[in-house]
Amino acid sequence: MKASHHIAVLPGDGIGREVMDAAAQVLHAAGARAGIGFELDTRPAGAQHYLDSGVALPDETLAVCERADAILFGAMGLPHVRGSDGTEIIPQLDLRFHFDLYAGVRPIRTFRGLRTPLSDPRAQQIDLVLVRENTEGLFYARGRGDARRDAQGRTVEVFDTMRITRHGTDRICAFAFELAQRRAERLGRAGRVTNVDKANVFESMAFFREVFEDVASRHPAIGADSAYVDAMALNLVLKPWSYDVLVTENMFGDILSDLIAALVGGMGMAPSADLGERHGLFQPAHGTAPDIAGQGKANPTAMILSAAMMLDWLAERHGDARLGDAARGIERAVEAVFAGGAVLPFEFGGGDGTRAITEAVLERLRHA
Ligand code: ATP
Repeated sequence: MKASHHIAVLPGDGIGREVMDAAAQVLHAAGARAGIGFELDTRPAGAQHYLDSGVALPDETLAVCERADAILFGAMGLPHVRGSDGTEIIPQLDLRFHFDLYAGVRPIRTFRGLRTPLSDPRAQQIDLVLVRENTEGLFYARGRGDARRDAQGRTVEVFDTMRITRHGTDRICAFAFELAQRRAERLGRAGRVTNVDKANVFESMAFFREVFEDVASRHPAIGADSAYVDAMALNLVLKPWSYDVLVTENMFGDILSDLIAALVGGMGMAPSADLGERHGLFQPAHGTAPDIAGQGKANPTAMILSAAMMLDWLAERHGDARLGDAARGIERAVEAVFAGGAVLPFEFGGGDGTRAITEAVLERLRHA
């Protein structure tokens, strides 16, 4: 068991930097209680770095990520900083492809003390995980857009191609079933994976469903069903408490991630992990939020819970239960802070920003 873990820290842009400071403090505090050290190796990357240096993701930063035990990532991208093709500078996508971080894991749950936009009391029981395929689907088209021009050189049509492979679909579906199995054991209930696709229209999506059903047949203990993405958008608002694990293509996952974050009150409550065979990157589901950056209003909870996800992932990889205990400690501290009712983030109409929420979590950790 390692006494210390080397973590590549990429705060990035906007509120990414603000919430990363918060998570670093919480990580050190939780580690100190568990007798584990974290060497936080902070490196530059992002849209501002691109403006300053012409490079969004320096080779040295990439090399540190390669060597590190895990990557902790804030948020990157600024609306006014664009590449020559008009798209934003978003190195997180490069990292996903570079390290083959194929599984985007987005857990969502309600916290006592925080309202949800849904009035149905069952909304208090929302606890689901969206598993997003991260390396192919429609995002395969990124950087490969095929623009056709007329005789005057005007763009008249652009093709972005979706790619679905047996390998990519099999491994993301298998990941979802294994996750559902672990959740079923932990929560003491039957597990279920719901595949989200558009198999009624696209051949690629019919193929995705075929592979999903194949993987489901290898996991008979876990329930399996499928839904079209449009119906799922409806049902995630009408009855989100009835889902356990969802698995879906990259672009659908991108959109549904924001939708499910809204169900529990806002982006500041939604952690995430991007996992591959060897590497793990942990980041809040939100972006750089330029509208509130620099005002101290960002809710750091998503970043703090992403750090807890990192501890769980390291615990499993290194067979070190202390890391798992540290993760539970962080989660319990966050739960207690909001359940107590004394702290209400700006996102929820309250007056508590990054510093107040971080202090409250640290205080709970100290007295746990
Ligand atoms: P991206 O395209 O990278 O997802 P975005 O600009 O579309 O980024 P976000 O940056 O996630 O979206 O912001 C969406 C909304 O949620 C904004 O109004 C922002 O202020 C709010 N928001 C995002 N994160 C937080 C947070 N941690 N605390 C409070 N509000 C947040």
